[in-house]
Amino acid sequence: MKFLIRDDDLNYFSKPADIERWYTDIFDQGIPVGFSAIPFVTPASDVYTADTPPSEEECPIGANTELTSYVKQHPLIEILQHGTTHATVNSIYEYQNPHITLTEAARGRMELERAFGSPIGIFVPPHDWIGGSGILSVEAAGMDIIRGRGAGLRNFIPRFAYFVVFIKAVWHKLSHLGKEKTPAYPYVLDFGKHKEVCSYRLEDTDVFDGMEYAHRKKGIFVVVTHLHFFNEEKKARLLQVIKRANELNAEFVPPSALFG
Ligand SMILES: [Zn+2]
Repeated sequence: MKFLIRDDDLNYFSKPADIERWYTDIFDQGIPVGFSAIPFVTPASDVYTADTPPSEEECPIGANTELTSYVKQHPLIEILQHGTTHATVNSIYEYQNPHITLTEAARGRMELERAFGSPIGIFVPPHDWIGGSGILSVEAAGMDIIRGRGAGLRNFIPRFAYFVVFIKAVWHKLSHLGKEKTPAYPYVLDFGKHKEVCSYRLEDTDVFDGMEYAHRKKGIFVVVTHLHFFNEEKKARLLQVIKRANELNAEFVPPSALFG
């Protein structure tokens, strides 16, 4: 089983000390972490974490050179793209918006590549929600996607590969009928112009069952955490997940190794 930690919402206001506080012991075990980073967070966005008045002004992550220098020299950190601004407007998540432009994902990708000096190939939708227009924007930027549980059943773009994935996703759901929750599909899904991998949230009640399932299937297991919302209880749970993964001889990988 390939095992990945995806930590969401790294942004202009994040500090290397935030990362070190929660991850030093995990890095000491040689475990890589994929940080999904917001290219242009706004202080009015729904993940705003600093203590200044809310505004719509975009804060480019590249302007936080303390953070970007730290990440660039860290061998166990890989950056993913997390939306472009992560702003929720009128209760619609950023990449759920049907009017999102084809170039919006690429605008964010360019900022991350400029800031961190390495190619960015994986997109994580804010709140794990993405609509058809959002997917087309991500495809236009040439990226793959790590999302939540619903891949294959939540979007449909008229394309043969979507039809094939839909059949796989329905079969997967049917073969777990009667269980409280369908486990995340444990392999890469190919949508023709992009690929997707599913993830669990650390707080999911079936996160341990999901890992056992991915192990039995020799598949992929992704667990999602949030740097700015960590507490001792969540950290203890993450360490339990890692302990079990070690017992199962999991292969701890960076995000780019999932799509290989
Ligand atoms: Zn987020």
